[in-house]
Amino acid sequence: MPLPDGTIEKLKSIAGAGAVLTEAPDLAPYVREERGLMESTCDAVVRPGSAEATAEVVKLCAGTKVPIVAIGGNTGLVGGGVAEGGVIISTERLNRIIEIDALNHTMTVEAGCILADIQAAAENENCLFPLSLGAEGSCRIGGNLATNAGGVGVLRYGNTRDLVLGLEVVLADGRIWSGMSALRKDNTGYDLKHLFIGAEGTLGIITKAVLKLYPLPRSKVTVMAALDQLDNILALFDRVRAMCGDRLTAFEMIAEIGLELVVRHIPESRDPFAGRHPWYVLMELTSPRASDDLRTEIEAALGAAFEAGEISDAVFAESEAQALELWKLREEIPDAQTREGGSIKHDISVPVSKTCEFMRRASELVEAEMPGIRVCAFGHMGDGNIHFNLTQPVSYDKQAFIDRWADFNRIVHDLVVAMNGSISAEHGIGLVKRGELQHYAPAIDLELMRSIKRALDPDNIMNPGKIFDL
Ligand SMILES: Cc1cc2nc3c(=O)[nH]c(=O)nc-3n(C[C@H](O)[C@H](O)[C@H](O)COP(=O)(O)OP(=O)(O)OC[C@H]3O[C@@H](n4cnc5c(N)ncnc54)[C@H](O)[C@@H]3O)c2cc1C
Repeated sequence: MPLPDGTIEKLKSIAGAGAVLTEAPDLAPYVREERGLMESTCDAVVRPGSAEATAEVVKLCAGTKVPIVAIGGNTGLVGGGVAEGGVIISTERLNRIIEIDALNHTMTVEAGCILADIQAAAENENCLFPLSLGAEGSCRIGGNLATNAGGVGVLRYGNTRDLVLGLEVVLADGRIWSGMSALRKDNTGYDLKHLFIGAEGTLGIITKAVLKLYPLPRSKVTVMAALDQLDNILALFDRVRAMCGDRLTAFEMIAEIGLELVVRHIPESRDPFAGRHPWYVLMELTSPRASDDLRTEIEAALGAAFEAGEISDAVFAESEAQALELWKLREEIPDAQTREGGSIKHDISVPVSKTCEFMRRASELVEAEMPGIRVCAFGHMGDGNIHFNLTQPVSYDKQAFIDRWADFNRIVHDLVVAMNGSISAEHGIGLVKRGELQHYAPAIDLELMRSIKRALDPDNIMNPGKIFDL
């Protein structure tokens, strides 16, 4: 449906003429979804420079029931930022770091700040903002909040939800809700901010946040271990946690094929081990005390693991450059997989104690369904989140493989749900997993979610059609 007459002019008078884009070449960067699988249609992209201007834009759209989709860095992987008509509101000009209160260990930011800029600003004040993920150079904190992003530090610091004290949100009728608390204790009724975190922009537009900061790590050790048995991944996790406690910040699993594909397809990457192993674990330990000898601690744990037959080899990063090289082997897996041909992805979680069992059972099921399929699993094993990705059999037709996506979803997600897991550990539901949520979510969950949506957005203008249909 085209915009009502005069809407573009009104948008320009609210946000400024240069902040309203309507020509196809200008819209291009905003309408293309990260993986190029979907594309938005919209009549305008608006880039307001303040929460007040955002509220005025929303009020204008609400008056004529024009749908609105908020986008940040547009790095989401489930089509949550894909508009089907109406107006896209980009938060890119809401990019001020408003305050860092190092004593309170908090930071107040606008929603369009790029995650890496937030990390750098915290570090300047000798603090850590621990959210860290592959897209941190371009994703924005509003998008992180709206998807309750996870990443590599969840094991120690939790998801984005755990890193927030306060929020400011423009509601669907254009009012501004200010819940900008910087308190660590506040039990005054419902904790409203949690409604908007993980809501994928369906309930309102996040414009500001108060984030938690932590002591800056002063010592760090990065090590990759090679394992010959799947079950030993959990044995190693248990041992390192018991011996090193919460200094263990990251515990990432990589299947042999993941490392193999990165080495094959990604320039300047190399296998750090002399021989091949079925499983690898990338671990990072950090401490705020410069004097902590993390190397000795992890060597003791790995020595015991070696004695117990849990690991076969280990390589330490001897410099920051080597640490980045090891992390690259983990971060480049999705790209390497794409270069290898068709891939079908599942971003799931199960209880940490069930991760190895899940990997074994799921692999057996998909291999029985399609002999030759390659299970390229990797991910945040320390928090139960596995990217259970499948790479097409060698010489299989790529499109014919992709066409089986729904069948493999059913096989993998049935098992996930049977094991009390989640079909979306990260990234959200968006458009891509809407059918799966409808299939698996208990009716009462969907009913409650729809009640909340109707209460906060009765005209269904905020990112309509995402997560579920009303
Ligand atoms: C290489 C790579 C690695 C990644 N690794 C991880 C990972 O480890 N963990 C993880 O969780 N995700 C990961 N992601 C997915 C993605 O980066 C995250 O979901 C990120 O949090 C999205 O932020 P964004 O600013 O790009 O949001 P966008 O893609 O712009 O938007 C995502 C959703 O949030 C909504 N939204 C955006 N801004 C706002 C706002 N201000 N108010 C309300 N709603 C809003 C959008 O409407 C959409 O539904 C990765 C993506 C890539 C490309």
